[in-house]
Amino acid sequence: MLSWLGRAAGLLVVACPLVLIPAGAAVDGSEPTNGVIPLATNVCGSEASDCDPTVRQEPTPQVSPDPPEPTPEATPTCQVTGHQTVVFLDPGHGANVTPQPATSGGSEGIVSGESANGVEDVEVFAVAMKVQAALEEAGYLVVLSRQANPDPTGTALWQRGNAAEAANDGQPADLAISIHTDLASSVGAGQIYYNKLGGYRQNNSGGTRQTFTNAQTAATAERYAVVFQAVRSADQEGTVTITAGHEFPASRNLGSHGDIPIVMLSAPSVPWIYNEFGRTYQGGLTEEQIELYASSLVRATQLAIGPTEGTGQAITTCQ
Ligand SMILES: [Zn+2]
Repeated sequence: MLSWLGRAAGLLVVACPLVLIPAGAAVDGSEPTNGVIPLATNVCGSEASDCDPTVRQEPTPQVSPDPPEPTPEATPTCQVTGHQTVVFLDPGHGANVTPQPATSGGSEGIVSGESANGVEDVEVFAVAMKVQAALEEAGYLVVLSRQANPDPTGTALWQRGNAAEAANDGQPADLAISIHTDLASSVGAGQIYYNKLGGYRQNNSGGTRQTFTNAQTAATAERYAVVFQAVRSADQEGTVTITAGHEFPASRNLGSHGDIPIVMLSAPSVPWIYNEFGRTYQGGLTEEQIELYASSLVRATQLAIGPTEGTGQAITTCQ
């Protein structure tokens, strides 16, 4: 192949291999061709196969295009738009617990226990399960005073109150709801008790006394109680009464007497709505009544305090 180059009359610059041939030189000793160069068949084309195979043509290195500049992502704007509401649900009873003095909390030194109450234990726990599911679905954090029926741990009333006071990661729950039932003949459509400012309990023996003194909690509880009363009265088509505190005479032999439930006295920072639902039947609530009781408590909770209006975990919204 180089032979034709040897006959070239001029300087030939070959595109792929760089070969310089002086004019008129005869590389292989043959005669020049009078300056006629067979360009048509001997100039390398664009294809590597056009070139002399003995002259290696380095492949043109592939140059990768510069990667595109990453599109800067828009930094989301986030802000805390609320705090999760923590609800302490207290289905009553569930076990017989011998009264003992509380060792801590707002009722420290005051004697209280717990009592099983047959069908009430079952139906209030059923109501609590429905309320818990609905409130969690709506975004609330729910903490229960007992995990099963019967209560496997035998939790005393003062321990339930203390649990509510620490239900929000060691801090007080935003709202506590006790769930009880009673005979309609004694309570009508039902009753609601809330924190009584100045309410007390005193041991039947020994004279130890504790008083509820948190005015802010009492005021908040009253505000919530009015909402619960309105919702429950409408749903039950009857008047549900509300009262600050409740009478516990010494004759009941509860270990202490006074005018506020132990659970409230034990949790000074928790607004507490203590519900009684009047049973129409001696045998307990019907399925419809359990459903009605539960839906009323859920709706009242949502009207009293929304799921993000509490003091639990921060809720962040990003745009
Ligand atoms: Zn009860």
